[in-house]
Amino acid sequence: MTQKLLRSLPSVDELLRSKRLKGLMDSVDHALVADTVRRVLDELRAEIRGGAVAEVNPERIAEATEQRIRRILEPRLRRVINATGTVLHTNLGRAVLSSEALDAILLAGSGPVNLEYDLSQGARGERDSLVEDLLMRLTGAEAACVVNNNAAAVLIVLNTLADGREVVISRGELIEIGGSFRLPEIIAKSGCVLKEVGTTNRTHSRDYVDAIGPETALIFKAHTSNYRVVGFTAGVELGALVEIAASHGGLPVVEDLGSGSLVDLSVYGMEKEPMVRERVEAGAAVVTFSGDKLLGGPQAGLIVGTKAVIEKIRKNPLKRALRVDKLTLAALEATLKLYLLDPHSLASRLPVLRFLTRGDEELGRLADEAAKLLEDRLGSGYTVKVEKGVSVVGSGSLPAHRLTTMLVIVTHESKSAREVSMVFLQNTTPIAGRIKDERFMLDMRTVERAVDCVPETVGDNVRTSR
Ligand SMILES: *Cc1c(COP(=O)(O)O)cnc(C)c1O
Repeated sequence: MTQKLLRSLPSVDELLRSKRLKGLMDSVDHALVADTVRRVLDELRAEIRGGAVAEVNPERIAEATEQRIRRILEPRLRRVINATGTVLHTNLGRAVLSSEALDAILLAGSGPVNLEYDLSQGARGERDSLVEDLLMRLTGAEAACVVNNNAAAVLIVLNTLADGREVVISRGELIEIGGSFRLPEIIAKSGCVLKEVGTTNRTHSRDYVDAIGPETALIFKAHTSNYRVVGFTAGVELGALVEIAASHGGLPVVEDLGSGSLVDLSVYGMEKEPMVRERVEAGAAVVTFSGDKLLGGPQAGLIVGTKAVIEKIRKNPLKRALRVDKLTLAALEATLKLYLLDPHSLASRLPVLRFLTRGDEELGRLADEAAKLLEDRLGSGYTVKVEKGVSVVGSGSLPAHRLTTMLVIVTHESKSAREVSMVFLQNTTPIAGRIKDERFMLDMRTVERAVDCVPETVGDNVRTSR
């Protein structure tokens, strides 16, 4: 029986000549179709040998091949509804861009642009000059440049200023961010020697002074983005570090601000995140920060500082390896320009700030509307209710800041919170909520419209994951 079934299998050629696959061959790469047919046949052969197949149906083989190819062609990067409440969710792509930034990306991607072409001189230009004056204006720095992300910014700054020499840093600031950015490792990869000073919770001026020697290249300060040391603590302020550095031959002080902010968030009633401008004023020779955290732009690493240092960084061959592309620069320029508007317009046009500054009334309205729609859609077994809660900024920004929000809690009489969350994730446009205390919840802070967090279908007719 097994042999008979194996012999009855159609050949690859026969299948490729079938009506269904011939149609597909008109629009899809032939090798992809042929490879997929072969793979489907191989699997079927194994199933036949395992005794799991009763008959061979060429039409069904062609159909399975077609389905598999359609799945390969489906977009992998899909829109997701962020109902997690985390405004800067690294796994969901951090900052949602403004419509101004999106327009700029479209323009830069759809035709030639003056990326490195100085239109006033008719000569070769420098790509960073598209945003340098904006960064200077917004931070008060003498010069600025842009690399791929903040990790790259830290890497190139350290490599430029301290290759083969010592970098002095407090033990309390030897941070790990998101698992893959660990400051001691970046320092090592930059070719520098880490010189830790002080203790985890307390570092004093004299610790720095004692550590500085002939091999010291710079003093490094890192914003402890995603955690806070509280209780019996002591650190040395940037201003004091600048004084120590100045009295030791004018060493540069470099600060990795992580998120940093270009505006005073307390204007919007939030906790204040260190502003880049203040750190420049306090005397940091270089400050690095991310483009896609609080700034609300594309992934980028922004480096601002003295003219002398930025010029050196530009000459480092790593700059070429870490440079950003035209799409990033286009989005960055458009995002930075929003910071030239008044605070109110900025908060309404920059999605990150709009989400962060949403008021209780708007969030309550969204929650009530979403709850009502969900009740109508979900049907029996489900319970929906609205509760007050707390959202987080995310990406290590303002870790201790509590943003009050409105939650829609969805529970089911027999499904676990995880099972309920899977129903939402399997929606045509996946809806990502969060689970807390064994309850699935949708946080309205990051949701644009109530209807976005309502699945199209629920229950047995929900698409199963593949
Ligand atoms: C987030 C962060 C980084 C890494 O920035 P990316 O833009 O994600 O590369 C580095 N340092 C600090 C302090 C951070 O908060």
